Amino acid sequence: MAQKEYDFKCLNCGREYRALYDIKNVTERTCPQCRSNSVRRMPEKKGAAKT
Ligand SMILES: [Zn+2]
Repeated sequence: MAQKEYDFKCLNCGREYRALYDIKNVTERTCPQCRSNSVRRMPEKKGAAKT
């Protein structure tokens, strides 16, 4: 099974980064810059904007 990369954003320092989202490894959701765990997964971007 292929893993998917998602965009994450740190709510503490504002850094955005891409990482694999593995449901079995959710503890890795920490900011690589400030090590905060206030990281939110960004919604997937599709080609067409949907409102
Ligand atoms: Zn951060």
